[in-house]
Amino acid sequence: MNRIVVAGGGLAAARVCERLRAKGHDGELLVLCAEPHPPYDRPPLTKAALLEERDTTLRTDFELLEADLRLGVAATGLAPDRDVVRTAEGEIPFSTLVIATGSAPVPLPGTGPQHVVRTAQDAARLRAGLRPGAHVVLAGAGWIGGEVATAALHLGCRVTCVEPGPAPLAAALGAEVGALFLPWWSDVDLRLGVGVTEVTATGVRLGDGSHLPADVVVAGVGVRPQTDWLSGSGVEVDRGVVVDEHLRTTRPGVYAVGDVAARWSVRWNKRLRVEHWDDARTGPDVAAAVILGGDAGPDPLPVHDPVPYFWSDQFGHKIQYVGQHGAEDSVVVRGRGSAKWGAAWLAPDGTLNAHLSVDQPKQMIHARAAIDAGAKPDPGSLADPGTAL
Ligand code: FAD
Repeated sequence: MNRIVVAGGGLAAARVCERLRAKGHDGELLVLCAEPHPPYDRPPLTKAALLEERDTTLRTDFELLEADLRLGVAATGLAPDRDVVRTAEGEIPFSTLVIATGSAPVPLPGTGPQHVVRTAQDAARLRAGLRPGAHVVLAGAGWIGGEVATAALHLGCRVTCVEPGPAPLAAALGAEVGALFLPWWSDVDLRLGVGVTEVTATGVRLGDGSHLPADVVVAGVGVRPQTDWLSGSGVEVDRGVVVDEHLRTTRPGVYAVGDVAARWSVRWNKRLRVEHWDDARTGPDVAAAVILGGDAGPDPLPVHDPVPYFWSDQFGHKIQYVGQHGAEDSVVVRGRGSAKWGAAWLAPDGTLNAHLSVDQPKQMIHARAAIDAGAKPDPGSLADPGTAL
């Protein structure tokens, strides 16, 4: 048997099918997709697709790829001692398994009605609630919160955002950089330093005991990898499916790509779980090469260790972030006070670890190249955004 089973129906799953066929896999290809819809792009769900209905289905042609796409069929388990995936339709044997089950939003506590945005169905349901004059309460002023706030304001809603941190995006970027986004939130009733403790029938209860009435409650408080189905399978899970730099799990013949993978980064000497579109797009190319290489595969084996990249569109601006920073890094704000500002994070030895730019796509490209090259820019002149990285 030469059957590759892909568990998951998002960008990473679609890409892995494309790359496997492009690299010469001529055996069976079977995709288990829990959603009833073929793979689609998620970034628009909190952007254009929240303003009006949009079809964001990926162009991947599963028929042309001769891939057996099983819509609405989830992988429910992986046998520990046999190469079979369990589903409601029975066991499916495989010679190779690719895990691409992505991540799922963390809901707020409480029994009242709330929205999350992960699927096209979620976005459609939320869009229906974003009526002019509706009071929308967002939990979390992070990436999802900023984008939903933007759409809700655009549609004429009244928006309150409850954020336990000291500033928008502070959890991701730190309090100093987060505070620079405050002016963008001027049309939002932004409540900082307090969290939602419970969704009630009529709104949300806050950590200070007060109750905030709401027509629509949206949770934007993070995601967690979809790994429950792997319990007891012998595949190690530690805040994501543990994979090496070649995207191999701890179980032979089993690989993981996209949001669900916690991959070893040689570049940063630590494990990263990168929950961004670009990683789900590029990782599958490496996974396909490693899978098809087998024991006689390319030497050295291809490595998936790009400089992480993501973007967010909010309040009429494009934010682009490349790299990844740690708690010990120092941050330099670039172009403070100007419309096109940014920030750079430097490791204790001066190496550029991460860079954020606002409305400057070209700068992002330079920053990514500089991080890739291990650049050590002069911290004294970095505050000037004109300084080359
Ligand atoms: P997913 O897209 O999560 O797909 C996983 C699929 O697997 C889902 O269809 C799921 O139903 C299915 N599945 C789960 N469990 C099972 C199972 N047991 N069996 C079978 N199938 C299963 N990134 C950016 O870089 N920039 C952005 O602006 C941006 N905006 C975003 C906005 C939103 C609203 C969301 C939700 C994400 C956004 N992202 C953004 C992140 C980006 O979309 C993800 O990184 C990307 O979707 C990851 O792809 P994936 O295929 O790994 O996982």
